[in-house]
Amino acid sequence: MKAELIAVGTEILTGQIVNTNAQFLSEKCAELGIDVYFHTAVGDNANRLLSVLEVASQRSDLVILCGGLGPTEDDLTKQTLAAFLGRNLVFDDEAMAKLDRFFASRPGRVRTPNNERQAQIVEGSFALQNPTGLAVGGMIEQDGVSYVVLPGPPSELKAMFTRSLQPLLIQSSQQLYSRVLRFFGIGESQLVTVLADLIDKQTDPTLAPYAKVGEVTLRLSTKATSQEVADQRLNQLEEEILQRDKLADYFYAYGEENSLVQTVAVRLVAKQESIAIVEQGTGGLLQAELSLALENQAYFSGGKVIGQQGTGSGRCWEEAGRIRQDLQADLGLSVSVLIKPESTEDNVLAKVCLALASTSGIAQMEVDLGGYSWSHIRQLAVMQALDFVRKTL
Ligand code: ATP
Repeated sequence: MKAELIAVGTEILTGQIVNTNAQFLSEKCAELGIDVYFHTAVGDNANRLLSVLEVASQRSDLVILCGGLGPTEDDLTKQTLAAFLGRNLVFDDEAMAKLDRFFASRPGRVRTPNNERQAQIVEGSFALQNPTGLAVGGMIEQDGVSYVVLPGPPSELKAMFTRSLQPLLIQSSQQLYSRVLRFFGIGESQLVTVLADLIDKQTDPTLAPYAKVGEVTLRLSTKATSQEVADQRLNQLEEEILQRDKLADYFYAYGEENSLVQTVAVRLVAKQESIAIVEQGTGGLLQAELSLALENQAYFSGGKVIGQQGTGSGRCWEEAGRIRQDLQADLGLSVSVLIKPESTEDNVLAKVCLALASTSGIAQMEVDLGGYSWSHIRQLAVMQALDFVRKTL
């Protein structure tokens, strides 16, 4: 949030008083994580104040005016702000009641219409009561800019800021910042068990697990005044999470919109490597997904789709080496899915054989999978293959 402070008062310009309000407000804003980009001082002159407001409204999200709320003719801050925003001034009931009490307790004092101006706010403002004086302040938002009006006397300004404005600024300057961690190879229930104590005691940041096909995401969220403050908190929590029970091994990327296939494609492009693929038993699903992951990038060299059913590990590594050579790719991947005979219609069991050929030889791996349908198994096998490649990149 970018803030600008405008001190209104000719005494400041003539050097009769020092603008200590600006110092106080800047210090407080910094504590709240609000960036103050400009300090302006302007005399008690409506036209010059209008021109200052015009500039401030273009370059700041929060404009804090101080001074010029008193009963005398040269106190014109609220009137000028009202004119600038195209609004009227209206009486605030609470400030008016305070004025009534003040004059009732001092029978000798004459109450003038000018005194009553101190109980006025710009129409639509949230009134900021003055615990140590009579002039009410206010806060109003228009066209995405918040305008605040505070009294000039430092004792009044400080009390109003601390008691009334600060809580509002904390509220309005805090945004929700989130980070999504993606895990593959671990189920939601296992992840939740490992993180049970963190989930139980969560307040801010919060963490929310979400199961997707074959993977789990974990959303970390915090309310903060800036990205830097949020990053500090989220980094700390992320570090704590990834230190737990080898969770770092399952973590593969950040981002709500990310995926294993995206991650692999991006890494291949970054390393300027290409991959060729032979699939058996997945109907070409892996090649379709990987080749469509990124547009206009030469990371996929092509491949082969063999039959409906895989045959197991026997020839997997040979296929990986051969496709790499035939298509002159940096990497050759072979995936073969074998459906086990004990499978039933809604509980499909499979063995997935994976082999990856590269300049440093051929790596192989086998995984047993269980799924509720054939298409589920196929999707899981593709993800296993992608994760296998990701770990070598
Ligand atoms: P009042 O009701 O006293 O007239 P006001 O809100 O109209 O209050 P001003 O008339 O602008 O405020 O200033 C009143 C006094 O507050 C000034 O004479 C000065 O002593 C102090 N003051 C005003 N502005 C500042 C400032 N920016 N920094 C420090 N002191 C200030």
